[in-house]
Amino acid sequence: MSVIHPFHPERARREQWVLSICAVAVVLLVGLAFLPPITLYSGHVGHMLAVHIMLELFSTIVSLLVVIMALNMTQRSGDDIANTLVYGFIVVAGADLIHALTYDGMPALLTESSTQKAIFFWLIGRCFGLFAMVLLAARARLPGSPWMWLALGLLTMTTMFLIGTFVLDQLPVTFVPGIGVTPFKAFVEYGLCAGYLAVAAWLFLQYRMDPEARSLYLAAACFIMGLGELGFTSYVAPSDFINLFSHLFKIAAFGFVYLATFFIGWREPYQLLVQSERQLRDREFELDTLLSNIPVGVFRLDCELRYRYINPAHEVSLGGRHTLVVGRHIDDIMPVQFLHLLRPRIIEALAGSRVEFDYDYTDEKGTEIYCAAMLVPDLNVDGNIEGVVIIVSDTTVREVARRQLLESWREVSELNAALDAHAIVAVTDARGVITRVNDKFCSISQYSRSELIGKTHRLIKSGHHSKSVFEGLWKKISRGEVWNGELCNRAKDGSLYWVYTTIMPFLGPDGAPLQYIAIRADITGRKHAEQEAQRLAFHDELTGLPNRRLMRDRLKHAIAFAARELRYGALLLLDLDNFKEVNDTRGHAQGDELLREVSNRLLRGLRQSDTVARLGGDEFVLLLSDLGSDLETASVHAGDIGEKIRENLARPYDLNGEAINTSTSIGVVLFLMDDSDPDELLKQADMALYSAKAAGRNRLSFFDPALQAEITSRALMLRDLRLGIERDELRLFYQPIVNSQHCVLGVEALVRWQHPEHGLVPPLSFIPLAEQTQLIQPIGLWVLQTACAQLARWAFQPDCAQWTVAVNVSERQFNDPEFVSIVERTIDQSGADARLLRLELTESMLHDDLNKTLYKMNALRRRGVEFSLDDFGTGYSSLSYLKKLPLNHLKIDKSFVDDVLSDPNDSAIVRTILALARNLDLNVIAEGVETDAQMDFLVSCGCAAFQGYLFSRPVPVEQLTLNCASNTAGASPSLS
Ligand code: C2E
Ligand code: MG
Ligand code: MG
Repeated sequence: MSVIHPFHPERARREQWVLSICAVAVVLLVGLAFLPPITLYSGHVGHMLAVHIMLELFSTIVSLLVVIMALNMTQRSGDDIANTLVYGFIVVAGADLIHALTYDGMPALLTESSTQKAIFFWLIGRCFGLFAMVLLAARARLPGSPWMWLALGLLTMTTMFLIGTFVLDQLPVTFVPGIGVTPFKAFVEYGLCAGYLAVAAWLFLQYRMDPEARSLYLAAACFIMGLGELGFTSYVAPSDFINLFSHLFKIAAFGFVYLATFFIGWREPYQLLVQSERQLRDREFELDTLLSNIPVGVFRLDCELRYRYINPAHEVSLGGRHTLVVGRHIDDIMPVQFLHLLRPRIIEALAGSRVEFDYDYTDEKGTEIYCAAMLVPDLNVDGNIEGVVIIVSDTTVREVARRQLLESWREVSELNAALDAHAIVAVTDARGVITRVNDKFCSISQYSRSELIGKTHRLIKSGHHSKSVFEGLWKKISRGEVWNGELCNRAKDGSLYWVYTTIMPFLGPDGAPLQYIAIRADITGRKHAEQEAQRLAFHDELTGLPNRRLMRDRLKHAIAFAARELRYGALLLLDLDNFKEVNDTRGHAQGDELLREVSNRLLRGLRQSDTVARLGGDEFVLLLSDLGSDLETASVHAGDIGEKIRENLARPYDLNGEAINTSTSIGVVLFLMDDSDPDELLKQADMALYSAKAAGRNRLSFFDPALQAEITSRALMLRDLRLGIERDELRLFYQPIVNSQHCVLGVEALVRWQHPEHGLVPPLSFIPLAEQTQLIQPIGLWVLQTACAQLARWAFQPDCAQWTVAVNVSERQFNDPEFVSIVERTIDQSGADARLLRLELTESMLHDDLNKTLYKMNALRRRGVEFSLDDFGTGYSSLSYLKKLPLNHLKIDKSFVDDVLSDPNDSAIVRTILALARNLDLNVIAEGVETDAQMDFLVSCGCAAFQGYLFSRPVPVEQLTLNCASNTAGASPSLS
């Protein structure tokens, strides 16, 4: 077994038996060497000849088989040795046949048969045999065809036959009858032996290098042949055992030659064929798997257009119905529309062309299907066309995408064209320098392209917009966002035009803008129309002055300005005294003319900051601002301006050459705070105007100065109060509520305002005002929070832990939809005990919406909060209300307590209230108790709780606890 090549069981078996035969041959030869000479068939020459012919015939037949095989070897397997085998073995076959025929005792073949003659042909056979083996070992390639070498072999054989037949005498003697083989013959045989063995060794070495069976067989043939030659070196008579026996070596050797030839000529090619067939099958399998799995339809047609192959994908495209299409004609299978397209192309492909085409059709579901088909001629191994291969791929997805792309390109180019045709387009770099503009841009701006490119949009800046507009614009676009807006630009000739502008940034890979594209639409026409509409909506058509709407708007601004700057403004309402007369006597046209002239004079006499408007008819309004910060100066100022205007308007008018005299009455009202209502101001101005008219016309009249002063002071107070809340100027005082023993039961929280100039302001001076505005909400909340915080603090002081705190609630507070949650939240946040909190309501608050009131009170009652009805008796309280509401206490108003001793009505009222309360199960607190006599009376009537200066005035908390501490008697603090 070769060390180079891996283990191969078949080869190992082969080597085993070949070597075994070689070993047997060696053993037999050694055995022969020790045998004494044995003569066979003495006296029976015929038998010996028959055996000899049989033996030789075997090798002749084998040689002929070798020749026949070599002649039929395929080119691939026999190209290198076929000629050698043909030539060598035809000579060997011939020589061995003639050798057998010319054996001593055989009939004469042209000349007498003899051993010498037979030996000549024997040696020729062996020499050519060796010659062939050498050529085989050398893998010599004899040129020409085997048939030529057959002819050459026959020629050689004929030549040898002629030599052996006719010139035998001239050749060296090889056999002497009676003596045996000559030394020459023996020498030649030894030489042949050595030659064969050498070739055997050579071939065996080749086998070791490349374990081809034929090398092994040929090596074995040479080896056995070489050994056999030794048997022919020493026989005495042809019938010697050794001579005949040695023929068996030749038979064995020829057996190996046959095997080698068989391997070369048949076995190897056959194995190759089997192998390639297997590979082919594997490839076909792979191909079939591939074709089955690819999403492309593949089919083959023969020249008669019958299916030879169809892959599953194409089967599916045919509708999946034609599973047995192979062998059938395309006309029977293929959809007509496809057939119609395909037929002419198949003809082209069958003519040898490769054809490609695209087609589309609508399938059964109505879907448009796009396909690409390719037809190639189907060639057989000889290169002849034997059909056509058709490959169909579904390109729908690609085609649809392509069409969409085309469509979007078309749209984009249409968009581009539309943009160019209708929009004003400019492209700038990241710094805003113009890099491209379209024709529309040039035409609207009146600049040429070369004037624009390289510049920024500053070139067309109109100055109409503030700096902040452009700062905002740049901020947005440099962040990569789109900016939209209306801009006013200036053309080269100085005219203004309006554009609706969209600026889009083109972002680079880092997200920073690389370029900006500005697309503008000319909206100058629309803008002018808008301005005109605005003018018409806000201006008086006759005089062009602002109308009532615009005047109201300006008045609002003026009020806000006055409040902000704390400078008075004034509203002057003007009315022509005898306009109706002018209209009636001179006609409307003259009247209109007069109004226009009045408007002109008003405009001429005004400052820039003032506004003049026409309310309608002959009514005009003047709005003066910035008249000074004190009422007197402002009044004087407004009066002066008004007087001047009145005088100016009283000058005669020239209407178409005629002089007309008319006078004007003016009503003036001043304003300072921003809670001044424009309509209210107009009403006041109207009142002033009325009094001017009433006083004889052609004069100026102020809105009642006292009233004006009060309004002003009210406004100032509100402003101060607002500031006061912000500056934390509110204070909460507490007034005790005591029992008949003067023990403190609780307190009422009463707010004060610590004004920086006016000192401590009592609640009645600012609470009613705060109630008229939203200010009561923050005040009420502050009181509630402060009182609850106080309750929470007292919880830790044993003397005060049980005190209740009553908080006054105003109507606006109570009506707040959030009232309940505000109170609850305040209680929760402060940590106060809700049961000690009392809310004081007044009668007027309870009538609004009984259900809502009930809901709110009940909600808070559930938390433990109690309710007192304050100032009871002063308002209108229905008894049914009192019954329905979850009240706990009634507070008898101070006015009844004041005169309870002197006025029998009041004492009756007090008694009635106390009786009523008893029946309704309510507690009563008498307010405003100032004297012991009052106290005694109240006690005698059954009143149990009291509040008044008799016990304590409302005091700050520190003083309250101080008072209580100094008057503590027993467990509960008392006041006396
Ligand atoms: P009210 O709720 O009826 O409070 C009682 C008022 O009578 C208090 O006046 C108190 O000082 C006064 N008073 C008590 N005893 C006597 C007395 O013996 N003689 C005299 N002459 N007066 C007495 P104050 O503190 O000026 O409060 C007046 C009103 O202002 C209160 O009447 C209440 O309606 C309102 N008010 C006070 N604080 C608040 C508050 O925080 N919120 C709301 N919404 N209103 C409040
Ligand atoms: Mg009260
Ligand atoms: Mg009261």
